Amino acid sequence: MAAIAFIGLGNMGGPMAANLVKAGHSVVGFDLVPALCDAARTNGVTIAGSARAAVTNADVIITMLPAGRHVVSVWTDVMPAATRGALMIDCSTIDVESARRAHMLAARASLHSVDAPVSGGVAGARDATLTFMVGGEVESFEDAKPFLEAMGKKIVHCGRDGTGQAAKICNNMILGVSMIAVAEAFVLAEKLGLSHQALFDAASKASGQCWSLTSYCPVPGPVPTSPANNDYRPGFASALMLKDLTLARAAADSTGTVTPLGQHAQDIYKAFDAAGNGEVDFSGIIRHIRALAESSGDR
Ligand code: NAD
Repeated sequence: MAAIAFIGLGNMGGPMAANLVKAGHSVVGFDLVPALCDAARTNGVTIAGSARAAVTNADVIITMLPAGRHVVSVWTDVMPAATRGALMIDCSTIDVESARRAHMLAARASLHSVDAPVSGGVAGARDATLTFMVGGEVESFEDAKPFLEAMGKKIVHCGRDGTGQAAKICNNMILGVSMIAVAEAFVLAEKLGLSHQALFDAASKASGQCWSLTSYCPVPGPVPTSPANNDYRPGFASALMLKDLTLARAAADSTGTVTPLGQHAQDIYKAFDAAGNGEVDFSGIIRHIRALAESSGDR
């Protein structure tokens, strides 16, 4: 069993660290928020006084932080205290450029590293059913795999440094665009006198079939587990979808890629977020689409 340092014990990191303890590892954690440290302590995580103190003697150092700047700053801070040859795993969702920078800093400090962002949300973190998209050398991926398996059930090696983040950003661009498309179809169906269930029954067995429709349907009824049945409580908050679409847009800009629907999806989620809906599940975008239809009907 390994000595693991876990930095960032928030909505995702807290339950992920708890699953590493359950798997028999010795976990030393740190977060800037004392209440989160207390919660982690009740799950068997030993709390250190700082991120740097947490990594002393760790074989594996895991970060689960808000954005690229936090990851680069924490990695820069802890590296001098890390054991030579230790493995750094960043599970946060961040921009590809920062991820590559973090890998470079690790290599300079003789540390191994992978970027390993996740899909599956807070429920996946709690139930250890996350999907990990991993970028880095094959050897580092193989070293990281047993630890990721304690927190998830699907571990995909995507290629060299930064490709885990690339996969995550591309996947969530598909998700954001497809959710808006499904929401638009349901609003159009409402106007055409087609019931939600009838559209679901037809499209889920036809070429409109996709995850946003069949697993996460944005209207209540057809998929009882979808957040639409729970007043659009997340789930996956719209603010996080906006974050990921913003990362996708920046990646498109920096690579000269034209992604008209990805950009439009970002604009739509930005307006939804600005109207105070950041904490609403991202499938709640159907309310925004419906409101647009109603305001155009008023004209
Ligand atoms: P969160 O805000 O709940 O947790 C982040 C934690 O990092 C906070 O508790 C914060 O105090 C801590 N932190 C920030 N700077 C720190 C520092 N210097 N030292 C120690 N701790 C520090 O966010 P979350 O929902 O747990 O998400 C974490 C990451 O996972 C994000 O990158 C997010 O985009 C990604 N993600 C989240 C979800 C989700 O459903 N919540 C799903 C997939 C991916």
